[in-house]
Amino acid sequence: MKDNNFIYLDNAATTKVSETVVALFAESEKNSFANASSIHRLGVLNAKEVDKAKESILNSFKLKNHRVILTSGASEANNLAIKGYCLNYSNRGKHIITTNIEHPSVLECFYQLRDKFGFDVEILDVNSKGIIEPSILEKAMRKDTILVSVMAINNEIGSVNPIKEIAEIVHKYPKANLHVDTTQAIGKINLDYSSIDMFVVSAHKIHGVKGSGALIAKSNLSFMPLISGGGQEDGLRSGTTSIAMAKCLSLAIKDALKEDVNKVKELRNHLVDELERIDEIEMNSSNECSPYIVNFSLKSKKASVVVEDLSNKGIFVSSVSACNSKKESYSYVVKALGKNEKLYKNTIRVSFSKDNTIEEVDTFVNNLKQTLEAIR
Ligand code: PMP
Repeated sequence: MKDNNFIYLDNAATTKVSETVVALFAESEKNSFANASSIHRLGVLNAKEVDKAKESILNSFKLKNHRVILTSGASEANNLAIKGYCLNYSNRGKHIITTNIEHPSVLECFYQLRDKFGFDVEILDVNSKGIIEPSILEKAMRKDTILVSVMAINNEIGSVNPIKEIAEIVHKYPKANLHVDTTQAIGKINLDYSSIDMFVVSAHKIHGVKGSGALIAKSNLSFMPLISGGGQEDGLRSGTTSIAMAKCLSLAIKDALKEDVNKVKELRNHLVDELERIDEIEMNSSNECSPYIVNFSLKSKKASVVVEDLSNKGIFVSSVSACNSKKESYSYVVKALGKNEKLYKNTIRVSFSKDNTIEEVDTFVNNLKQTLEAIR
């Protein structure tokens, strides 16, 4: 889309790539095109560039005992973390735990491990704010639990899980490791990444390039590779390495971790103040949620009609999340909060980036009110 006359409030689906990342991508593709696995001088130089990018990623997260495995994004990284880990360590135990509001790239891995590989899968319910209570996890842990997977920030409602407490519980069990889907969390909350055994990054959620991401895992963990071949990425993910993607991911992470969250908090608070005055609306995101994501339901109108009408006016928000919208016509996340059918079938998500403004929030609210009036 070339027309710049629109308001983009769908940043949890994807963000606009930053100018500096695009410039680095172009420069790197032009000048560092040789295959990083080649043994000639250009190949060796490029392999060093990739190593440098990975070093810088680990430094950004203040990590010494982790390694970076480059992937096509968070879906692939979650798949490698969950399936690659479980298939590699199934001799230690087959009990694995996750929650009922994880992203499909996590939940589907659990279902596959249960249905095709005989794992004992336990899916814990979150509370009415979309948070997993540590005591519930504590009760579910067993001696043969090998994996716990809990997302840091939910992509639909923005609920924030207590990862520090969760890590402490998991690490009381010697066979268990913690995987955290941090896709929506990078730069948005403070996390002690060193306490997490495996976490993921998706570049396009942090103004990076689409089709790029990473699994960042403790160096002592092994995985059954999901993509076999020439043995790139320590044999864990074969396929020719993109030097440009590695460098751009490192830059996007550095920038994301420097972001000023307070600016987005102001946008969020202003939006929520306005939305709470509209009778038709019921909030799904609580005050403890990430300021980047505001989710609400319509009590009597169809969310898809409202989202389409706003889209016709050049304002882009989402009803059920983009990765889910083709499969289901309701939000399983909002359903998990205990909301009724009318509400979980009519959710709208507004998601911010650092580039949004108060004026955009006001324009959105005014147009939303008009749309709700018009479809009365
Ligand atoms: N996990 C979460 C929480 C997400 O929001 C997304 C993207 N919607 C993913 C995983 C998948 O990310 P990617 O598009 O990089 O595969």
